[in-house]
Amino acid sequence: MATSMATSKSIDWDVCERCVEESGIGIRLPTGGKCWAHADDSDLDAALKRLGEDGRVDARGVPVTTELLQRLLAAVPKDERGHVVLTDPRFDRAVFHGDAVFDTATFRGTAVFQEAAFQDAAQFLGATFASDATFGMATFRGVAWFSQANFHRRRVPRGDVPGPRSVRRCDFPARRRV
Ligand SMILES: [Zn+2]
Repeated sequence: MATSMATSKSIDWDVCERCVEESGIGIRLPTGGKCWAHADDSDLDAALKRLGEDGRVDARGVPVTTELLQRLLAAVPKDERGHVVLTDPRFDRAVFHGDAVFDTATFRGTAVFQEAAFQDAAQFLGATFASDATFGMATFRGVAWFSQANFHRRRVPRGDVPGPRSVRRCDFPARRRV
């Protein structure tokens, strides 16, 4: 209880026991007291099974490696074309280590990447954001690819999507360029 307060007063979720030791802020899975990155196999398997049923991933503050992301996406339900379908995904303040590849993924509901940190490439080639997508204050240290990504909701606030200031190179649909 005191640990999450010590990390940051703006964190309104229960922080993983292991993350706390490293000054991290990953949200705990429902069981085991640890996050996606640090969970024991049994807790991780249970969470992946649930993810396979509802497509909802909550990885707020979690350090996400390329391998972990692939594991998450492998568990997520697929549409008839075999593309992953994420529902209301939460990656607020997640830190992506290694390339983050969300190619052809469909994001249903609200996709939140608020203050996410992409340490390497961020790739959303052909991804579909069916509703709201928030990338506010996200940082992109590598290349950010949004080529052929579809943003169906066009009322995303200006500046709330990746712009030239925050990325070295952003291949972004022209109608969404900021
Ligand atoms: Zn953790």
